[in-house]
Amino acid sequence: MADEIRIRGLEVYAHHGVYEEEARLGQRFIVDMSLRLDTRRAGLGDELESSVDYGEVCHFVTACLQEKRFKLIEAAAEYCAAAVLERWGQLEGLALELHKPSAPIGLPFADVSVRIERCWHRTYIALGSNLGDRRAYLEGAVEALRGLPHCRLGAVSGFIETEPFGYTEQPPFLNGCLELDTLLVPLELLEALQGIERSAHRERKIHWGPRTLDLDLLFYDGLVLDTDRLTLPHPGIAERRFVLEPLCEIAPGLRHPLLGRTVRQLLSELG
Ligand code: ADP
Ligand code: MG
Repeated sequence: MADEIRIRGLEVYAHHGVYEEEARLGQRFIVDMSLRLDTRRAGLGDELESSVDYGEVCHFVTACLQEKRFKLIEAAAEYCAAAVLERWGQLEGLALELHKPSAPIGLPFADVSVRIERCWHRTYIALGSNLGDRRAYLEGAVEALRGLPHCRLGAVSGFIETEPFGYTEQPPFLNGCLELDTLLVPLELLEALQGIERSAHRERKIHWGPRTLDLDLLFYDGLVLDTDRLTLPHPGIAERRFVLEPLCEIAPGLRHPLLGRTVRQLLSELG
């Protein structure tokens, strides 16, 4: 589905720029936007409530560009894109181009612009704890994830008690999974997860050893990635009942991009 609502040539007088005169005097900016959403229901029902009011979007973007001052059009575009996606939940993504035709470069020229594409990414995160008040650590993590900027929390599984995996001389775990839609790129999300782990006083002593809180990124859309810092999908999923069981509760039909099987199939293959 590739429906779009397109807005072209929205003019906004604003004060972005590296130079002091630009911040003081302001200049004309022009915005083009393609809003990605399913227009089928609006197309059949002919009701504004089923769609996104593009007039409102234009007023909103104008206010965004006028209430803040950025040095770079990259930063202004980034800010507007996230603000629009967060304000209209039915948008899947957008392309936004911000033009600055009067940029003071000391040469006659027609235009400069930055065009970015941003969209919501669906991710699944595994939570685990086996030290202290395990339930409180997991619930604290869910709340921290709910409050993460540029993210929206989806389904959260129940928590199950499981025997330790790998290093077995340690207390049992409490495990769960959740769904999180995000505008963050994978490494930004990983850093956010590690920040939440740190604030739960997690100490890394033994690999696979006891921890107050472990947050693993299981899936990021269908992305396959293998770097020093991040492997996607998380490599342990297929062997770990403590991941598959809660994941199956919230996303049974989710397909592993490398194994080609759904979470429900992977769980039943574990026996
Ligand atoms: P584990 O979760 O295997 O018990 P840690 O939580 O201590 O181990 O994570 C060790 C490292 O794993 C982290 O520093 C992180 O950079 C890396 N890592 C690689 N892929 C992922 C992923 N998908 N989710 C979380 N961490 C990952
Ligand atoms: Mg981990």
